[in-house]
Amino acid sequence: MALVELAPVNADEEYRLLIAGEWVAPESGVYDIVDPNTAQVIGHAPEASVSQVNEAAAAAKDALPGWRDTPMAERCAILGRAADLLEERAHSLVGLVQAETGATINVAEGMQVPPPIERFRHYATPVNVDEPVEPIPLEATALGPAGLLGAHVIRQPVGVVGCITPYNFPLTNAAGKIAPALAMGNTVVLKPAPQDPLAMLKFCGMIAEAGFPPGVINIVTGSGAAAGAALVESREVNMISFTGSSAVGSEIMRAGAATMKRLLMELGGKGACVLTDDCNLDAAVGTIASVWGFHSGQICTAPTRVIVHRSRCEELVEKLTAVAGLLTVGDALDRDTIVGPVITEAHRDRVEEFIAAGVAEGATLLHGGERPDRTGYFVAPALLVDCTPDMRVVREEIFGPVVVVLAHDGDDHAVELANNSDYGLFSYVFAGSTARAFEIGKRIESGNVGLNSMVPHVHAPFGGFKMSGIGRDRGVYGLHAYSEIQALSWVSG
Ligand code: NAD
Repeated sequence: MALVELAPVNADEEYRLLIAGEWVAPESGVYDIVDPNTAQVIGHAPEASVSQVNEAAAAAKDALPGWRDTPMAERCAILGRAADLLEERAHSLVGLVQAETGATINVAEGMQVPPPIERFRHYATPVNVDEPVEPIPLEATALGPAGLLGAHVIRQPVGVVGCITPYNFPLTNAAGKIAPALAMGNTVVLKPAPQDPLAMLKFCGMIAEAGFPPGVINIVTGSGAAAGAALVESREVNMISFTGSSAVGSEIMRAGAATMKRLLMELGGKGACVLTDDCNLDAAVGTIASVWGFHSGQICTAPTRVIVHRSRCEELVEKLTAVAGLLTVGDALDRDTIVGPVITEAHRDRVEEFIAAGVAEGATLLHGGERPDRTGYFVAPALLVDCTPDMRVVREEIFGPVVVVLAHDGDDHAVELANNSDYGLFSYVFAGSTARAFEIGKRIESGNVGLNSMVPHVHAPFGGFKMSGIGRDRGVYGLHAYSEIQALSWVSG
């Protein structure tokens, strides 16, 4: 046991909402934030009223013309200053973000705090997002004389962007939205997940000091769906950038239709992980084990649905069982812990119900799934084998430390099983050669496919097919996502 001592979280600290450049007290009181690792209340988050959400949207609208007309180089310079401030101070957020997410100390230090700084840094460099259109020689017509028809495509900011984010990586996810949105000249209202908004409130305090004009960044929080729903319904908000479950994504599309919201939808996943007869099983096992060991499987891109060639199934299952047995489940602050808690008691119960449903439908629970005898919301890494495509554990996103294994009889069958899913976010192929993995990967209905690796390219477009979402972000695609395309055309003589 090597418990890490972090700066204590002050449970009495007062948090406020950021609206029009002012930190304001919430009109609807506060609600408890609970540490999933200890089940203790570690703070109180502001409960914004609907009228405060509307004030935040109005502030963002007021700030829009000035920010949109600020040259991109100047906007990016402020983002760069924000990245500098975050680099100096964001490490102080590790303790708070760890406590509210329940992330293991290794995940909190490595994945909760550095990536949001990198996202600000990335979008601090201005890039040209406009594109020329090939000119067309024009003959004289009744509409005008002959000439050269030219056009230029300009990317304009969409306007006010409501950013609604999930609980698993609160800072990284929000930074991945607000940095490109601001770089493109939009203004934002951020609505973090109810479970863990405290570090994000502090994070916004740090970046606000970089010199963004009042109203360019606003943040409102709340315990339920009301604050997010108000943003979706607001006439002042032009776009919703949402990351979360597919069910809520569908609800946002429905509610946003009335105001023709532009939508970036980053939704659920049920990542297929195809293993061919000639693959390197050890490499694949390392990737699959991340479902258990990386934030307790609360990752949309997790390779949870393993589709292995029948001839390698027994060997794979042996290796997975051995690895699962080595993963220490326990205190998130212990450096040796690999599997920490899931976010809430309700989510722990939901993951357990999925495991029980899998067994009831005929799957074999080879390892884990039990509730460890400790305070907090833990699920021991679960391995379900003998799974079939119609089982709920195969079809639905569990978002917990649960791996399901299906057998295939060849590449065509593997692709058919992989594509037999409502989801298509991030899938994986492990094959004897990258060339073979590439050929199989192209056939998988998934926005991203990892070939013999689970490392995503940070500048490659990210997003989902089917119920996993609409649109792409990251890299230059992030700037595109937060823009409207405008074509200007002319005839020169
Ligand atoms: P969730 O859908 O329950 O909540 C996400 C956000 O939506 C929260 O801020 C919540 O308050 C808000 N919300 C809920 N109802 C709303 C409504 N009616 N109108 C507006 N906002 C509303 O998701 P979660 O449990 O926080 O996160 C887990 C989900 O997020 C999983 O499905 C996971 O796959 C997905 N996720 C996807 C990605 C991706 O990039 N595709 C990344 C991380 C997480």
